[in-house]
Amino acid sequence: MKYISTRGHADPQSFCDILLGGLAPDGGLYLPESYPQVSAAELAEWRDLPYHALALKILLKFVDDIPACDLKMLADRTYSANVYRHCRTGRDAGDITPLTTLEPGFHLLELSNGPTLAFKDMAMQLLGHLFEYVLEKRGESINILGATSGDTGSAAEYAMRGKQRVKVFMLSPDGKMSAFQRAQMYSLQEPNIFNIAVRGMFDDAQDIVKAVSSDAEFKAKYRIGAVNSINWARVLAQVVYYFKGYFAATSSNDQCVAFCVPSGNFGNICAGHIARMMGLPIGRLVLATNENDVLDEFFRSGVYRPRATSETHVTSSPSMDISKASNFERFVFDLVGRDAAKLRELWAQVDAGGAFDLRGTPYLAALPGYGFVSGRSSHADRLATIRDVWNRHRIMIDTHTADGVKVAREHLDPTMPMVVLETAQAVKFSETIQEALGRDPVRPKDFDGIELLPQRVDVVDASVDQVKAIITRNC
Ligand SMILES: *Cc1c(COP(=O)(O)O)cnc(C)c1O
Repeated sequence: MKYISTRGHADPQSFCDILLGGLAPDGGLYLPESYPQVSAAELAEWRDLPYHALALKILLKFVDDIPACDLKMLADRTYSANVYRHCRTGRDAGDITPLTTLEPGFHLLELSNGPTLAFKDMAMQLLGHLFEYVLEKRGESINILGATSGDTGSAAEYAMRGKQRVKVFMLSPDGKMSAFQRAQMYSLQEPNIFNIAVRGMFDDAQDIVKAVSSDAEFKAKYRIGAVNSINWARVLAQVVYYFKGYFAATSSNDQCVAFCVPSGNFGNICAGHIARMMGLPIGRLVLATNENDVLDEFFRSGVYRPRATSETHVTSSPSMDISKASNFERFVFDLVGRDAAKLRELWAQVDAGGAFDLRGTPYLAALPGYGFVSGRSSHADRLATIRDVWNRHRIMIDTHTADGVKVAREHLDPTMPMVVLETAQAVKFSETIQEALGRDPVRPKDFDGIELLPQRVDVVDASVDQVKAIITRNC
C-alpha cells in the first residue's frame, strides 16, 4: 500500500514514511492510493471480534511495512481494558467503545473512555505506540511541537508520556482552558513532557508553532514533528470504531447505519467516509457543527468558505471552533474524482484566503452519492439537548455530543439505526453542564482532586524566540 498526496506532486510513500511527518512536500495531504475493500465474508468474520483484533484486521489492510506480529502487539497494547477504563456508563471497559441505546434505533457510541476522556485518545494512543516502535527501529528521535486549546494537547501528552525517543512541547493559551483541562496537562510529571503556557490566545500559540515549523534549519536540527489532526495514522485509527459501532448497532450485515459526527477539522468524519468507501454499509454520514458552520454551509450549498480566524465564534463546544477544516481536502479529493489538478485549483483559492463554489459543476451533482447530510447547533440547543437527555435517560452528555444528538434528531430515518459518536465526557466542560443542569458533572474517580496536584508549566510571552529557547535548552 502506497500513499499519495492530494496535490499530486509528491512521490508515493509507505505507511512508516508518512507516519512521522505532516503535510506532503507539495502541501497536500496523504491518502492511500486506493481504498482497500472489505468483502462480505470478511465483514461476517469481523462482526464478533474484540476491539483490538478488529483494529488489527483494519490496520493490516493499510500498513504493509510493519510485520503483522508487531502490528498485533501494538494494537493489543493500545486497545486494552486498562487504558479505556473510564467507562461512562459503568459497563465492561473491555468493550473499549460501548454502545449506549437512548431509544430504539438511537444510540451513542462511547469514544471517550480513554485516559483524557475525549475521543482523540482512540487515535493518539495508537500513534504513541507506533512512534515508539518506528523510532526504535530507525534509531531516531523526535520532538513534537503542538498548540492546543484543550483536547488535542492532553491526548498527545498522555499518549507520549514516558516514551523513549519522544519529547512533547505543547503550547496552550495561558489561563484560557478549563481548570480540569489545565490540571490534566500540567500535572504530568514525566520528564519528556513540556507544557508551555503562552500569554495570549490559542491563535498566538498556533502562530508560534507555524513560525518554528517553517524555520527549516531549526526544524531539521531539532527534529521537530507534529501530531496534528492531518496525521494519516490518526485518521486510520478512527476508521476502526465505525466498524465496531456498525456491528454493535445491527444484527446483520444487510442493514445500513447512519453515523452522526460532531465535527471540527473533519478528521473524525473523514474516517467514516473511508469506512464507507471500504464497503461498510453506512447509509448516512450526518455532520454536526456548532455556530462555526463552515462545513454545514458546504454540505447544504456546495460553497466552501473558510472564515477568518477573527470570525471564529468562541463556543461552549470549543473543540469544534474552527475557521477552516484541515482534513476536508481529503474528502474533496475523492469528490473531484481524485483529480489532483482540480484539487490544486480549488485549494489555490482557499490558500489565498478565498472560497470555492461547486454549484453548477458535476462534483456537486456527485455529492449525494457520498451519503453526507449536515446541520448546526447553537448554545441554546446544546443546553436544551443536555437537559433533555438527562431528564429522559439520566445520561449526562458533553457539549460536543449534544451538538451531535441535536443534529442527529433532525435526520432520523426509520429504515436505519442512528449512531451518534460521543466525543468527550461531560466533566471536561463542567461550566456548561452547570448552566444546563444546575449540578456538577459526573467525574470518573481517578480524576478526584486532579486540580490539586502539583503542576509543571513554563509561562512565556507570545514570542517565537522564547519557545525556541525552551526547546534548545531541553534537547
Ligand atoms: C476534536 C474534537 C471534535 C472535532 O473532531 P474533528 O476530527 O476535528 O472533526 C469534536 N468533539 C471533541 C470533544 C473533540 O475533542
